[in-house]
Amino acid sequence: MSLTLLQAWTGARDRLKAAQIDSPVIDSRLLVEAATGASRLEIATDPYRVVSDEQRAVLDGYLDRRERREPVARIIGRKGFWKIMLNVGPGVLIPRADTETILDVVLPAFDEQSRFQMLDLGVGSGAILLAILAERPHATGLGTDISEDAIAVARDNAARLGLEARASFLYGDWTQGMADASFDVVVSNPPYIAREVIEGLEPEVRLHEPMVALNGGEDGLDHYRTLAPEILRVLRPGGLFAVEIGYDQAEAVTALFEAAGAGDVRVVKDLGTRDRVVAGTKKPLGN
Ligand code: GLN
Repeated sequence: MSLTLLQAWTGARDRLKAAQIDSPVIDSRLLVEAATGASRLEIATDPYRVVSDEQRAVLDGYLDRRERREPVARIIGRKGFWKIMLNVGPGVLIPRADTETILDVVLPAFDEQSRFQMLDLGVGSGAILLAILAERPHATGLGTDISEDAIAVARDNAARLGLEARASFLYGDWTQGMADASFDVVVSNPPYIAREVIEGLEPEVRLHEPMVALNGGEDGLDHYRTLAPEILRVLRPGGLFAVEIGYDQAEAVTALFEAAGAGDVRVVKDLGTRDRVVAGTKKPLGN
């Protein structure tokens, strides 16, 4: 018996509901779109289009994976962030909406005409760096990562978005080898989950995200201890930094940046109103 787009969608939704997946309606729609090549609009306007046996088999495979709690973005291999679409390979953290808080801090500091150089430490898929470069046509940026997979994914995303001329990528350990005072803005979403908390995370994260992108050591703060002085070192005087934090890390991370000599240190909340970013400046010369 042939299956229509609408039947495929409702069947998929029922399977995900039965598997107690959090957002069965959206997830099933995204998986049907990916498996059939139909757009969201087509599912609505052409609901009786027949789904081929091949597409049906692909969809079944996707649903099996989602039932095993693989995130949709991992299954379909892409995720929207800010105004850009990113490919996400297995080696990178799937970009989160929470991380857009960093853009809320950085973009107002530079208008569209500004020429500035930015650094994204632990660039992953390239989400933060590329979303900012896409908004600021005269900016250039460097992304570093300790994962070669991530560098490959980020580079590929830069090329797909036509940003390769303004984005470079470097495999390595944080700021290793970088000269002092090289950047106008430094951003990072480092791994910040305390080691013992990782086990209790939902399966989508625990089983399907790269551990190297999550593990912040004993108390989750290991990387900020390294990053605070290093970010202040590679920033130009007067430069801006913004780092993502866990919801309960504002005080500790603020203290680390203040101890490293940062000025105007402030905490910014995400849309869920949880503390999400610590931002500040490197004091200008003469202050
Ligand atoms: N916010 C991510 C999560 O909840 C963690 C990201 C990170 O450690 N930088 O899984």
